[in-house]
Amino acid sequence: MAGMAPEGSQFDAKHYDSKMQELLSTGETEEFFTSYDEVFESFDDMGLQENLLRGIYAYGFEKPSAIQQRGIVPFCKGLDVIQQAQSGTGKTATFCSGILQQLDYGLVECQALVLAPTRELAQQIEKVMRALGDYLGVKVHACVGGTSVREDQRILASGVHVVVGTPGRVFDMLRRQSLRPDNIKMFVLDEADEMLSRGFKDQVGVFSATMPPEALEITRKFMNKPVRILVKRDELTLEGIKQFYVNVDWLTDKMRSRDHTVSATHGDMDQNTRDIIMREFRSGSSRVLITTDLLARGIDVQQVSLVINYDLPTQPENYLHRIGRSGRFGRKGVAINFVTRDDERMLFDIQKFYNVLIEELPANVADLL
Ligand code: ADP
Ligand code: MG
Repeated sequence: MAGMAPEGSQFDAKHYDSKMQELLSTGETEEFFTSYDEVFESFDDMGLQENLLRGIYAYGFEKPSAIQQRGIVPFCKGLDVIQQAQSGTGKTATFCSGILQQLDYGLVECQALVLAPTRELAQQIEKVMRALGDYLGVKVHACVGGTSVREDQRILASGVHVVVGTPGRVFDMLRRQSLRPDNIKMFVLDEADEMLSRGFKDQVGVFSATMPPEALEITRKFMNKPVRILVKRDELTLEGIKQFYVNVDWLTDKMRSRDHTVSATHGDMDQNTRDIIMREFRSGSSRVLITTDLLARGIDVQQVSLVINYDLPTQPENYLHRIGRSGRFGRKGVAINFVTRDDERMLFDIQKFYNVLIEELPANVADLL
């Protein structure tokens, strides 16, 4: 994560806690949510269609993750769900399975809409949906900006079951009536707190690793007695990701004197270039990627074992998303934060927020990677 610090207020942990307390202490909250406690320890026990199970196993999943054990079945039952679980724990497959289970494959009309905050994330979700739904013959399309409008229109006209997209292009397709909402019965907001902070019928799924009280409040407006599967903030530990800070003043000079080969991406680049850079990075032909908060959320590249925060994020929530790009699905990861004296306060706030200790970078860091 280099350069560009997102604008925003300094995080206020006290405000967060008091809002959370307020929300959780109102009796209304209990009425607002439905409880759902069933846990399924195997995909086989979830009552999923045979061809969906085949897709899941063929994708390489053997056992459901904690969020999948709790989240897939209520979604399949047609309940509204809010799911919050640690970064890299498999929320994508949770909502993809829920959608794939419930589609009417005889009807080639858009029945599910998934919105994500970035094009790269929407494209990644599309691939997971297509892979898991391979044996079901699902037709999925990613509707994202920076691509040909005509091509989108052509694909939508040819018929799809699921659209995964970013809000701008999806809205454009709706406006042009290329995407018809009449048969949409499932709606998912991935990275929901981010989507809602940027300020939707029927079954709704909301998924994120972080869910501030304000965002939860907004979901009240469009969700009907949702099932809430929340991991409490204290349990949102970054276990498995060792974190260090390093004083940047001397490091800048040292790095400049060495020829590091890196690729870089940011939101002002044209989409074609962004796509090429992502492909190179996913395939491993480029091994170091410098990016802004564009890729802070949701992007899953399993070989990423190190995230360096060139600047600390201005909001603690983003810290978890950024460093959660490493240590995916229980792997080990390392995060290094470059700080100056000005960042001491934020570094302190982050440690307090996540209840973690961020130590000074040791000399043997290579051994940890
Ligand atoms: P997040 O919860 O942050 O959205 P993702 O859905 O991106 O996480 O999943 C993180 C990684 O874990 C992905 O590489 C995914 O393929 C892998 N994964 C998810 N579920 C399972 C599973 N049941 N078994 C093995 N790997 C899984
Ligand atoms: Mg995700």
